[in-house]
Amino acid sequence: MVKKRWWENENVPGHISNALLRTAREVMKHVAMCQSGMSGPKYSQVYSGALSGDGAIPITIECMVATGLPKRTVVGLPGSAVRECMDRIWSAMSSTGILPPRGVLTVNLAPADVAKHGTLFDLPIALGLILADASPSGKRWPDDHACAGELSLNGHIQPVKGILPFVLAARRSGRTKILVPAGNALEASHVPGVTVYPVRTLAQAIDHVSCESRIAPFSRHRRIKERRTSRSMDVSDVVGQTYAVDALTVAAAGGHNCIMIGPPGCGKTMLAERFTGILPEWSEQLALEANCIHSLRGLLTEKGWKQERPFRSPHHTISRAGMLGGGRPIVPGEASLAHGGVLFLDEMTQFSRSVLEGLREPLESRRIVLSRLRDAVSFPAGFQLIAAINPCPCGWDRSEKKKCTCSDVQKLQYAARLSGPILDRIDMHIALLPVDPAAFQSRGESTTRELRVMVRRAIEYRKRRRQAVPNCELSGPDLESLTSSEGLDHVADVMAARALSARSRLRILRIARTCADMDGSPLVRRLDVTRAASYRRLDGVTELGMVLSEQRNRVEA
Ligand SMILES: [Zn+2]
Repeated sequence: MVKKRWWENENVPGHISNALLRTAREVMKHVAMCQSGMSGPKYSQVYSGALSGDGAIPITIECMVATGLPKRTVVGLPGSAVRECMDRIWSAMSSTGILPPRGVLTVNLAPADVAKHGTLFDLPIALGLILADASPSGKRWPDDHACAGELSLNGHIQPVKGILPFVLAARRSGRTKILVPAGNALEASHVPGVTVYPVRTLAQAIDHVSCESRIAPFSRHRRIKERRTSRSMDVSDVVGQTYAVDALTVAAAGGHNCIMIGPPGCGKTMLAERFTGILPEWSEQLALEANCIHSLRGLLTEKGWKQERPFRSPHHTISRAGMLGGGRPIVPGEASLAHGGVLFLDEMTQFSRSVLEGLREPLESRRIVLSRLRDAVSFPAGFQLIAAINPCPCGWDRSEKKKCTCSDVQKLQYAARLSGPILDRIDMHIALLPVDPAAFQSRGESTTRELRVMVRRAIEYRKRRRQAVPNCELSGPDLESLTSSEGLDHVADVMAARALSARSRLRILRIARTCADMDGSPLVRRLDVTRAASYRRLDGVTELGMVLSEQRNRVEA
């Protein structure tokens, strides 16, 4: 039996009877109801979206304002940034001159089994609470609207990451009128079929939703067109490397991955930086996919849209998660940021083995799947790999300019760092010699514009041959049917002379097919095979310096 406290014992003088306590509770409840002017729980619904993998899913935000002692709760797997939102919302409301709702506030983010991360829920939750508080007046969130945005303490709305996937998800769920932070409006306007309302302050958003003053829809015409290739990055800046420029044009036309071997300062990085310029225009679908990835990382807010194919050049100290993606929440890595463009690995041998091995999956399937305890996330990673290496650790093996200081063992170990499996996925290996000082008097022979035309013609010719996949993905039987008998004989001769594997033969035939496309030839000819074989310099090489001396002999001959 529970012992009664002294004040609960009716025999003690001065006790408060249970009946009185009950009355006191009723009075407190009545006072609270009078203060907030409510008669029962009030409810509202607002539509938004949560980022998940490389996309987003539609989210319904439910807000309930009930009587009771003040309490704020957010449920539905909110991340730490979402849980903190209530403090930002309170300050923003106070700064805007709105009395924040009182009582027991419950916010539910449905579906409740999807993790919610990021700050894009600030604006929809704030609007949901205001609408719930005003629900007796009959104001409701319009069914065709969705919104996202981060609130600052003074009521302004800040840009958020991942607006592009958010707008795509909203459109899929039939919501075509989207309120986004003004800083994200350009980015959002690239999704066709939606009306974008740029919001600058919380007050503006409230006026828009309550139809007191509508925000003018964002117009794409204000957008300033960027030039596709800036003049400062033209291939003609690279002098004395005609062989490498030709090889990279073939790589661009056939989608071949390429590795450049050469001493320091011969122009490997310059060539790689100019490579995206000669790639053909990308399709709208590819541009949207690549921009979604950049949007998730918050890299679009400045310019609003990536017009050019991406060029990513991560440092060799990058971690596996930095390259492939990871973290919590999972964000895409450099390999996905290079989707649709070029991933350039300078000093490829310096990258850690686990990073290079991790690239095998995207090179094969053009996607990266990251599995975690709860879920698996997949990001697109269809990049073209361009790598650069020195012939030896010091960089001057078999050079006429400087003396190499590396031992034979060092050189062999250095060459062995290029692992077989990753090298197998690189079609072309080209050797670059130091530039002749006399060449600096002139400019390069070809401009980016000319090379791009050549690449476009080769791709158009391939499409006329009714081949949908790029040449780098052709299989053996298909290639043989596209090669003339003299071409096949010549491949057999090259294989015998250089003791090549069947895999090398396949690569040579693929490159030869691209060379034939560039000349508009329906069948691969003998000269195409000769040219292709010259782009396979690492076949059967134990020391990387050998490719340079071979190349020098070729030039002198
Ligand atoms: Zn050396």
